Order: sequence, then structure tokens, then C-alpha cells
Amino acid sequence: MMAGTALTPLVDFAQGGPLTNWAGNITYGTTNLMRVNSVPEAGETVRRYEHLKVLGTRHCFNKIADSHDRFLSLAAVNRVIGLDTQRHTVTVESGIRYGDLAVWLNDRGFALHNLASLPHISVAGGCITATHGSGVRNANLSSAVTAFELIKASGETVEFSRDKNPGLFPGIVVNLGGLGVVTRLTLAIRPTYQISQYVFENLPIQVLEHHFAEIMSAGYSVSLFTDWRNGNIGEVWVKSKVGEGPAFDGLKEWFGATAATKDMHPIPSLSAENCTPQMGVPGPWHERLPHFKMGFTPSAGKELQTEYFVPREHSYAAIKAVEQLRDQVTPHLQITEIRCIDADDLWMSPCYHQPSTTIHFTWQPDWPAVSRVLPLVEAQLAPFHAKPHWGKLFTMSPRRLAALYQRMPDFRHLLQEYDPKGKFRNDFLNTNIFGV
Ligand SMILES: Cc1cc2nc3c(=O)[nH]c(=O)nc-3n(C[C@H](O)[C@H](O)[C@H](O)COP(=O)(O)OP(=O)(O)OC[C@H]3O[C@@H](n4cnc5c(N)ncnc54)[C@H](O)[C@@H]3O)c2cc1C
Repeated sequence: MMAGTALTPLVDFAQGGPLTNWAGNITYGTTNLMRVNSVPEAGETVRRYEHLKVLGTRHCFNKIADSHDRFLSLAAVNRVIGLDTQRHTVTVESGIRYGDLAVWLNDRGFALHNLASLPHISVAGGCITATHGSGVRNANLSSAVTAFELIKASGETVEFSRDKNPGLFPGIVVNLGGLGVVTRLTLAIRPTYQISQYVFENLPIQVLEHHFAEIMSAGYSVSLFTDWRNGNIGEVWVKSKVGEGPAFDGLKEWFGATAATKDMHPIPSLSAENCTPQMGVPGPWHERLPHFKMGFTPSAGKELQTEYFVPREHSYAAIKAVEQLRDQVTPHLQITEIRCIDADDLWMSPCYHQPSTTIHFTWQPDWPAVSRVLPLVEAQLAPFHAKPHWGKLFTMSPRRLAALYQRMPDFRHLLQEYDPKGKFRNDFLNTNIFGV
């Protein structure tokens, strides 16, 4: 079963030029990229070389994927291998992208529980970094993984499942690319569903003090967008499951916010052409849960991103704490998005045993300026135990990360056991996981 080709790559891997990540803010340490067409070829590559990193769809903003030696791409190893309609699971090869898998599943009457804001990322890269969407009862995308296959540094292929390896499995999935080459994932699925998307404008931030939980649980997935400029959440995006939850049709005002009268972009000055349909028009889950349509440039294009997870009970205090920094933040910001994610049991997930709220920043592509603001934001959010997104930009120290992740010692052990000579290590792992 081949995956569809609904998505054209946004930028193909550089041919001859420098190799960069999607945003272009990271030029990788080598252009030595090996593409394989099968799992046995990947195994052979792992056995042959002392150091390598797998590149997914290159959507991380930091150096988590970087290598000075060589890259392995499994982009062509992207088939759907099996659909189990009894157990409600789908098994895929690791190079498949969420957008392609979503269409494949929906055509057969099935769905995933959630998607990130864009459909262009690989399933493996998304799960490895604890990528998430929104929804008070939706855990991150890696929480759907029920089985996992990877090639260890020795070249041996190993399989794990939640049922057969209950103790180890939570350490394996969010592995930050350090355990080996992920070749196959089995994901929990459910019957397909329809979503209607509604946008409300100008919600006073102070309303969140007493109504945060109510607003964030008013839909299956809710996002708040603000530039912090004027005490308002500029846009509230409510993605409602058709037939469930409060009805928004015809509602003109909600908690002091007014219903948008046309489709919106999260950055109000940009055209909504690339955004998924709103105004309550129902559509399949995969055409409403991401903010951006497939085949279009997601978000604003040139940008940097940062995101912090705070325990849900601190949501309003953390939002107010960031608002205090608006004079420093707003000049470098395109938009902030606030989302909720449910708890999971995955050791290196920022939501480990912790329902969370995320405060995300899409920055202007100006790293010198952003790198000066991040320590301020991190200091402001420190009392709330904020953890950074593993795939986005942060300046937090390894010592602080170690204090925030109680299972970090277990994770280090796992990396040492599966990759004793550091075949899959890079500067990011050496610093952030082993640098204490
Ligand atoms: C415009 C934009 C919007 C985004 N929106 C969201 C969002 O809504 N929510 C969210 O949480 N994040 C979001 N992200 C971040 C993104 O989801 C993560 O960075 C994710 O990891 C990207 O996956 P990738 O395949 O591109 O990873 P890469 O950057 O290619 O790699 C990430 C890590 O995974 C490893 N890896 C990838 N594939 C394999 C494999 N097969 N085996 C072993 N290791 C592998 C790499 O070595 C690396 O360590 C967004 C990013 C962008 C650019």
C-alpha cells in the first residue's frame, strides 16, 4: 500500500547547495545525505558508518537533527503497511508524512486523534520530538504510538509495543533521535469525524482568569492567538466536532469576543487563502485540525519558533507573566499561539504525567534579537516549571532541563544501552541530555 503524494515537498533537499532546515535558520554541518529506499538498505547504512543522523522533513528549528558526518533520509520509505480495523491501528513506514497518512486513512473511514498545525511533517520526526496539536483531552501525537520498530547502532532491528514492553515503551517513543533509526510505527486510529471551525476576534485576556478552562474546552481543539499588544487575544480558533459540544452557528459574541465574518489567518494582516476553512463549514478532521492547507506554504514562511509547556493549573499566571514582557517580545514577534495538551506517560514528553498549556512564539527570522528575548521569557516562566519544545529554539541550560525531566536519568541509560558508542549522538544530545 503506497502512501499518496498529496504533498509536494516545500523545498526539496538541497541539490549541490548547503543543506538547511525548513526555516533556513540552521545550515547543517554536512551535505553528505544518503537516501535509502528500503529498511534493509537503512540497516546496511547503519552497520557501515560510525556516525549518522536521520533527517525527517527538517521542520525542527534547532540543531536536534544536525550532524557533522552524514545524514540518512527515509523519505522514500513511506508506505502504509497495514490497517487493522479490529484493533483500530495503522502501521506505517517512518518516512510518511502526516498529511499523506491522513488522506489515506480518511479515504478508508478512519482518523487520527489529532494533528499539528501543519500536515507537512514526518510521522517519525513528529513523534520523536513530542509534537502536538491542541485539545484539553488530546495528548500529543506520540501518545497514539502503540508499537515501534527501530534499527539499533549495532544494525539489529528491534520491535517494541505498549502491550509487550509496558515498562520500557514510554522511554522509547519520544527519543529525540538518539536511540536509532526508526523504521516503523503503529498508531491508534478511530472512525473518521467531521470538524467545524469558528473564529472569534478580540477576547480580553483578563477573561481567561476565570474562564480559561471553559474556553479551552469549548471545542475539540482550541487555539488562542495574540501579539500581546493590546490586552487582547486577537483570535480564538475553536475546532468543534460536528454533533458534539456547544453550538457556535449564528453566535455573534462569545465571552466579549466577536465572531469573525470571514476566514482569518492567525496573523490578521495575512491572507487566509492558505488557511483551512472556517465560518463553521464542516469538513473532514484532517482538513480542519491543521491551521494550514496541504500543498500551501504553512504559517508565514520565513520565521523562527519557540514554545514552552506549563502545567495546566498555571495557565493564566503564565500568560500574564509573558504579557508583562510585551515591550521586549512584540517587536520581534509574528504571533503567539496558546494551546492545551493532555498528559501522557512518555518519559521525555514535556507533558509527562502533566496536563499542559503551551505558549508558542512565531518570531521574525532574526536570531540575534530572538536569542536576547528567550532568556527573559524563560526566566519569567521559570516559576511555572516551563519546559521547552524539543524541536524549537530555546536557551535553557542542560542543568535546568535535567531538573525538569524526572525520567532524564532513565533516558540517558537507555541511550547508552542502545547506542553505547554514540553513533546517533550529536551536539544537541551531547549538550542537552549528557551535558550536565
Ligand atoms: C511551520 C511549522 C509548524 C509547526 N507546528 C507545530 C505544531 O503545531 N506542534 C508542534 O508540536 N510542533 C510543530 N512544529 C515543529 C515540528 O513538528 C517538529 O519540529 C517535528 O519534529 C518535525 O518533524 P521532522 O520530521 O521535520 O523532524 P526533523 O527536524 O527532520 O528531525 C527531528 C528529529 O527527529 C529525528 N528523526 C526524524 N526521523 C527519524 C527516524 N526515522 N529515525 C530516527 N530519528 C529520526 C531527527 O534525527 C531529529 O533528531 C512546527 C514546525 C514548523 C516548521
